[in-house]
Order: sequence, then C-alpha cells, then structure tokens
Amino acid sequence: METVRRKSLLYRSGLGFWCLNHVQGCAHGCRYPCYASMMARRYGRARDEADWRRPRLVENALELLGRELSRKRLEVVHLCLTTDPFMVGFSEVTTTSLALIERLNARGVRASVLTKGVLPLELAGPRFDRRNVLGISLVSLDESFRKRFEPGAAPYADRIAALERLHAAGCRTLVHIEPYPTPNIVEQEIRPLLEAVSFVDELYFGGWNYSPLAGAYPDRGAFYRDRGRIVRAFCRERGIRGSVDA
Ligand code: SF4
Repeated sequence: METVRRKSLLYRSGLGFWCLNHVQGCAHGCRYPCYASMMARRYGRARDEADWRRPRLVENALELLGRELSRKRLEVVHLCLTTDPFMVGFSEVTTTSLALIERLNARGVRASVLTKGVLPLELAGPRFDRRNVLGISLVSLDESFRKRFEPGAAPYADRIAALERLHAAGCRTLVHIEPYPTPNIVEQEIRPLLEAVSFVDELYFGGWNYSPLAGAYPDRGAFYRDRGRIVRAFCRERGIRGSVDA
C-alpha cells in the first residue's frame, strides 16, 4: 500500500468533535457523491475519482497520535470523517486503525468508529475500551443500490453481521442511516432496514442532502418527515437512542 507522511493528525472538525483520518483517499468510492472526495479534488489532494480510490496510509499516524495526545485533553475521537477506518481490501488500514484505537483507549480517550467495511471482532477484546461506540453506515439492504452507490464497500449483510457480533460481545453499537435515499433513487421500505439493525444501542437517521438526484424528488420534505416519524417510533419501541435529522 502507498504511504504519505503528515505533520499532524488530530483536528477538531467543523461539526465540533475531534477526529483523525490516517488514510488519504478511500477505495470505497461512494457516489452519493462522497463529500470528502469532492473536497480532496477541490483542494488538490486527489486528481480525479481513480486517484481518490487509491488510498495512501499515513505512515507516521501512530507516532503523531502519541505526541499529540500528550498535549491535549480529549474525551472522544472519531475515526474517520474523510476516509474509512476498515476499508475493504486493505489490511494495513485495519491494523493501523486498531493500533490507533488501542492507543486512544490506553490514554483514557474513547473512540467513535464509523465504517462501510467490516468491523473486526478484536474490538470486543480486552485491549479496547467498552465505552467505544462502534458504528456502521447503512442506508439500504438492496445490493444493487450498494453496487451503484458504494461500489468498493462491504456487502450490507457482512456489515450487519459484524456489528451484531460486537453487540453480542457487549460492545456499544450504532447504525448511521444517512444519506437515506428518496424513492426516485431506490424504491425500498424502511422497516426491513430498521428491523435488520434493531439490536443496536444508537441510531442516527438523516436525509440525502448534497445531490440533485434527491432534490429532484417532488415530495422530498414530506417523505423525510414521514420516514423520520417511523424511525422515532421504532427507536422508542425498541429502546434505541435515536437521533433524526431529516
Ligand atoms: S466510505 Fe466514506 S470516505 Fe470512503 S468513499 Fe464512501 S463516503 Fe467517502
């Protein structure tokens, strides 16, 4: 795998929380489009789609984290906003992500993790803090939708199975349902999706925002209000900590 060196790793995102991205680019190549890919191309960190999908590992990530943690007092760090910590087909990324999470936890810092890959069962082991929040992104159960919009990411069933194993092992789990597609993108019912992840502790639901595709759906506002109501009711029924932004 190709590598790059960085001068710093931890930063506070525009969303207000601390995060780290120890890979430049992402082989998952999501086509919602991926906001991180758009920004990388705008600011010259990726030439085009093919370049974005050739990930480069930050080779000094662990060293940077150790140094930066000794200067900061943090409670939680998110992995990742502009890449995927468990990128399909890149074991080096998985190994580094586990080492970074272990390092965070050893310093008393919790990790919040979000992936469209397969979460490793090691995360339930004694090296890791049980207060970590382990999450998957999941907006559909339809594999033809996944192949079209998340071509390099893990199949949905694999993501869910890995998350469920971690939940059964006592980890705190989350499903991030965003960007939820409008019916002109894919016809689907939301209930089977919710049922498939009904074991989770936390659920986030959000609409499909930065694409003309979803904007073209005539009743977009009413559609998301209705799905938001279904999600809230589901979370209440199942005792899931839910958050709806749609
Ligand atoms: S997994 Fe995340 S970072 Fe990677 S291409 Fe998809 S949206 Fe972008």
